[in-house]
Parts: sequence; C-alpha cells; structure tokens
Amino acid sequence: MVRVKKTSDADILKPNPHPSRERTLVLIKPDGVQRSLVGEIIRRYERAGLKLIALKMLVPTKEQIEGHYTLDPQWRRVTGEKTIKSYLDKGIEPPTKDPLEVTKILLERLARYMTSGPIIAAIWQGAHAVAIVRKLTGSTEPLTSDVGTIRGDFVLDSYQMTDADGRCIRNLVHASGSPAEAEQEIVHWFSPAELINYRLIAEQILYDVNLDGMLE
Ligand code: GDP
Ligand code: MG
Repeated sequence: MVRVKKTSDADILKPNPHPSRERTLVLIKPDGVQRSLVGEIIRRYERAGLKLIALKMLVPTKEQIEGHYTLDPQWRRVTGEKTIKSYLDKGIEPPTKDPLEVTKILLERLARYMTSGPIIAAIWQGAHAVAIVRKLTGSTEPLTSDVGTIRGDFVLDSYQMTDADGRCIRNLVHASGSPAEAEQEIVHWFSPAELINYRLIAEQILYDVNLDGMLE
C-alpha cells in the first residue's frame, strides 16, 4: 500500500530542491506504442529505482508537439546547427546552410511522426532522474546508440534512412535533456492534478540516511 499525501496544486508543480526529488519527462513515441514496447520501456526506468509520479496515454496535436520542441527558445538554432554539422562531418552537403530552415523542416517531420498515433507521457522522479533516464534511453540516433540502452536494443533507424525518406528518426522515446528542460516539459504536458505525491517503500533503502526500523 502506498500512502497518498495531499499536496496543494500550487506546490506539486514546484521542483523540490533535494537531489532525490529530481524529475524528468518521458514520452513513449508512437513507434514505441506500436512496437508493444510500453511495458519494456517502463520496466527499465522502474527497475533502476525511479518512481513513476504521473502516467497517461494521449494522441498529441501538432501544436502540442511544436510547443514541446520549442520550449527552449534556443532549440531551433542549436538543433539546426547540430544537424548541419552532422551532415558536414559525414562529408554530405546539407539541404540548406540556414539552421532555422533545417529546424523548420525537422519540426514538420517531428509533428507528422509524433501525431501519427497514441503516445505515453510519464514523469519519473528520483536521484539524477534526468541523467539516469538519458543513460538508459541511449543516444538520439539508434544506429549508434549503445547496446543495452532502449534505443540500442530495440530499434535500427539512422539519419541515412531518414534523409533518404524525408522523415524524422524513429527512436521510441523522448527524455528531457536537463532538469530545467524537464520542469518546462512537465508543465507543458501535465496539469497539477495529474501528478501524484506518494511514498514508495523502495525509497527507504535508496535514500534513508539511518535505515532505522529495518530489523524487528
Ligand atoms: P533527443 O533529446 O536525444 O531526442 O534529441 P534532440 O532533442 O537533440 O532532437 C530532437 C529530435 O530532433 C530527435 O528525436 C530527432 O528526430 C531530431 N534530430 C536531432 N538531431 C538531429 C540530426 O542531427 N539530424 C536529423 N536528421 N534529425 C535530428
Ligand atoms: Mg531533446
């Protein structure tokens, strides 16, 4: 049994400064749902010791997806520059040298992909939640994601494939890139009433300082 502690709506969206209360947003993208990997993906975060504090299924709108990727005002420029650099590093001429033009095309492709079917939105809480989830998820391009990560183990997509077909990479999961990004994304996807503040028994062995009360 878990005890559900009442927290006011105003408080629940505020980040707690203790490091064990770090939170991150995960979206299981339409390909994750269609590949029947929802349970497998949740299991991987759950068994690391993270606590699930919100979970829902929805079909996102184009506006929700564009809003999600542009929460950081720098995202358009940074991602455009990163994408152009990755073309040049591979000796390929980018379709355009304008980072914002690159990102505009990317956003259209992301919206087409992410609105194609239901997704799962979840919030995970625990020590280093952002970094732990990113580590378990693996790097963006599945071709080069490490073995043992979600993207490395369950999907085979590459930028070579997506460039040839004019679509965006299908990599099963979105995970927040930093605690600040996570807090913005949580507010973007969830209302306060959807977050549940409760005690998970496992947190005692993970975080308690004294471990009192274990022996009878
Ligand atoms: P993530 O945090 O690992 O999902 O990656 P980003 O936030 O950097 O990028 C968001 C999305 O933009 C990715 O899921 C890709 O679909 C796309 N993307 C990012 N970098 C590149 C790139 O270098 N080339 C292409 N074609 N798409 C990219
Ligand atoms: Mg990202």
